Formats: sequence, structure tokens, C-alpha cells
Amino acid sequence: MTRDAGPNSPAAVLFDMDGTLVDSEKLWSIALDDYAAHRGGALTDATREAMVGSNMTRSMRMLLTDVGVAATDAEIAAAASWVAERMAELFAGGLPWRPGAQEALRRARALGVPVALVTSTIRSLTEMALETLGRDSFDLTVCGDEVDGRNKPDPEPYLKAARLLGVDPAACVAIEDSPTGVASAEAAGCLVIAIPCEVPLAPGPHRVLRDSLADVDFDALGELFTRAA
Ligand SMILES: [Mg+2]
Repeated sequence: MTRDAGPNSPAAVLFDMDGTLVDSEKLWSIALDDYAAHRGGALTDATREAMVGSNMTRSMRMLLTDVGVAATDAEIAAAASWVAERMAELFAGGLPWRPGAQEALRRARALGVPVALVTSTIRSLTEMALETLGRDSFDLTVCGDEVDGRNKPDPEPYLKAARLLGVDPAACVAIEDSPTGVASAEAAGCLVIAIPCEVPLAPGPHRVLRDSLADVDFDALGELFTRAA
């Protein structure tokens, strides 16, 4: 990286996508409800909440169990394909930004450090979302089908991003909205800015809670490490 990073900058800024940059969790809810109805069942609020920030395979297993269908590999694959197709229709209608997200991407870019997207969403849907987010917003994108099944809350997605960027994960700031995503980033050693979207988030030693991306001072990210230490 040849950009000039300020002394107060983290080694990289790692953004989650769904619920953090775009309000796509609501679109996921539509697609998941539609699939449950398609199978003659209904998705419970508790299961939906547990799915937020999760990957496709794990989500489909929970969904099938909720509607009373045995979660065989074949059923999981069929459900994933149905839901991905429905999500593609919904994504094609455009993705709503989370408050402050466009400005946050610009501010992160201006820091002069690498910026990555670390999402549990599969590559094909992420590519559609990048039409909204802007491919130039990121040096790297890590998708849910690119981590050998070691999805959030496993640290691997964040560790892989740091590895590919050649930075120390402990010197990175991750921005997340879900308990699953926060757990993944913290397990990777990142400092987490936690901005709840669909599910409340509890305080923790290695996380900083904010109400909105608009409340994040990107020029002072480095100071967060001192405060969280
Ligand atoms: Mg999320």
C-alpha cells in the first residue's frame, strides 16, 4: 500500500456488509419468510434473530428445522439456491444504505489504509451489492463462500482479510452490527465498532458501541485502541 496513513490510523478498516453498510437484513427477512411460506411453514422471530450475521448453510439449517423439514445436505442446498434466487430479485431492486454508510466509506478511504468488506453473504449476491457500495470502496472483499465453511462467528473471515492485506488483525478496526459478526471480529483480535441494526448488542471489553456510522469519528480511530486497552 502506497497511501499515506496518518499516525492515528488503524492498519486497516474492515466493514461487515448486511446491516452495517446496507439495510439488507430486512430483504433477507423477506426472502426467508417467503421460503418458509413456500414450504408451508413460518419462520419464528427467535430463529430469524439467531440467523442475523450468519452464513447461508447455517441459516438454511435453522430455517428448515423451523418449518419442520429434515435439514439434509440436499434440502440445505435446495433452500440456499431458492433463497439466493429470491435475494437476487430483491437486491436487483436496489439496496438501502444504513445511515451514514456512504460517508463512512468515503472517510475510511480517505485514511489511506486498506479497506475491506468482510461479509457472510455469498460472492454472487455480494457482487450485486457492490454495484451499490462501489467496487472502488474496497481493496478486498471476503465472502461467506470463500472461508472453507469457517464463517462468522469463527474468526476466519477477519483473519483471512487481514492475511490477504498483510496487516496485523489486532491493529485493525472492524465495523459490525450483529452479535455473530462482533464475536467473529473480536475472536480475530480486531477492535470492533459495534453498531446494532436488527439485534441489540451488549457492551464488551474490545468493542465500542455506537448508534450510527454517522457517530464514528474516522479521523480518531487510532484513539479507540488506547481507550479499549
Ligand atoms: Mg451484519
